Amino acid sequence: MSGRAQLMWDEAVTGYDFGRDHPMDPVRLALTRSLVGALGLDRDVEVVAAKAAGESTLRLVHREDYIDAVRAASADPGAADQSYGLGTIDDPAFAGMHEVSALIAGQSVGAAEAVWRGEALHAVNFAGGLHHAMPGAASGFCVYNDAALAVARLLELGAERVAYIDVDVHHGDGVQAAFWEDPRVLTISLHEHPRTLFPQTGWPEETGAPSAEGSAVNVALPAGTGDAGWLRAFHAVVPELIADFRPQVLVTQHGADTHFEDPLAHLAVSLDAQRAVQVACHELAHEHADGRWVALGGGGYAVVEVVPRSWSHLVGIAAGRPVEPTAPVPDEWRRQVYARTRQPAPHRMTDGRWPVSWAAWDEGYDPADRLDQAILATRRAVFPLRGLLP
Ligand SMILES: [Zn+2]
Repeated sequence: MSGRAQLMWDEAVTGYDFGRDHPMDPVRLALTRSLVGALGLDRDVEVVAAKAAGESTLRLVHREDYIDAVRAASADPGAADQSYGLGTIDDPAFAGMHEVSALIAGQSVGAAEAVWRGEALHAVNFAGGLHHAMPGAASGFCVYNDAALAVARLLELGAERVAYIDVDVHHGDGVQAAFWEDPRVLTISLHEHPRTLFPQTGWPEETGAPSAEGSAVNVALPAGTGDAGWLRAFHAVVPELIADFRPQVLVTQHGADTHFEDPLAHLAVSLDAQRAVQVACHELAHEHADGRWVALGGGGYAVVEVVPRSWSHLVGIAAGRPVEPTAPVPDEWRRQVYARTRQPAPHRMTDGRWPVSWAAWDEGYDPADRLDQAILATRRAVFPLRGLLP
C-alpha cells in the first residue's frame, strides 16, 4: 500500500518553547520522536531535516510587516508588539522565536516538496500543524502557519487542487483564512463547537468567499462528542467531498487534543479513534490523490499520556508499518519518560477501545440528536455548493 515515507525531523524544533507553565511543552515533540525510535519505525522511514523556510516562502502566506515583527520579537522578546499577537499570554515572545518557527515551517514545506516531486509518497511533520497563525498575526500558540505554507508551496509548484483535512479539536482558522478566496484549496475542519471553544470560529455557514464558494467546510461538533460520533461525523462529510474534489495532494492535520484526557478542550475521543481517522486519511490519499500525503501534527496538551502515542501511530501508518492498537509501549521508552518527566507512561499503544464501532450516515439519522444536527448543518451549508446532495 505505502511507498517510501519521510519523517521530517530536526532536533532543533524542540526549541519551540513558550516557557514554563505554557501548555505547549516541547517535551511532547521529544517524547514522540523517542517513541517512534523505540518502536523501531526509523527503519521504515527516511528521516530528513529540511532547511528553515526562508523569507520568500514565508511571504507565500504571511505579511512582510508581520514577519518583521516576529524577527524583532525574536531578537528582543521584551519589545514584542502585541498588536501582532506577539508577547501575549498565548504567544509569549522568546529569543530565537523566528528561527525555530521558520524551521518548523520548513519541515512542512519540505514535506510538501518531497511529496509533489515524488521523492516520497508520504511525509510526516508532527512538529507542524500550527493552524491558527494568521497572515498578519500570531494566534493560539502558532507563529508561522506551516500547514498553510505547505499548501501554498504546492500551489506554487503547480498543484491545481489541494485538499486540507484538519481534525484538531480547534477550528483550523488560519488555514481557512489563507485560502478563503482560493477555489484550488478545499479546507475541511472538524472541531469542537465555536460556542464552547477557541477560536470561536468554524461555523457550518463559513463556506468560502464568493469566488470560492464551497471551498471551506466546517463541522462544529457538540462538546462531549466521543468516538462513535466523531467517526460518524468524519465519514458523513469527508470522503464524499474528497472523492468529488479529486485532490492532487492531501494535507492533513492531526492535532491530538480531541482526546478525552486533553486538558484544554471537551471532546471525548480515544487514541483508538484517532488512529482510525489517521488510517482513513491514508486511505483517502491512496484512493483520490495517487497516494500523495502530507501529514502534520497540531495541538495536544496531554503531553505524556496522549501525544507521543497518537503521532507514533501516524508515523507507523505513513511508514506502511502501522503499530497495532494493542501493542505494548516499549519499556525502554517508559523508563525515559519517567526519568524526564517523573510521570508514569501508559502501558499500551491505545486506550483499549479497538475496534471502534460507529454508524454510517446513509443508514439513517436522528433529527433530534445534536451530533446529527451538526452533521446535517454542514452538509446543507456546503454540499449543494459543490453540486452534491445534502
Ligand atoms: Zn488544537
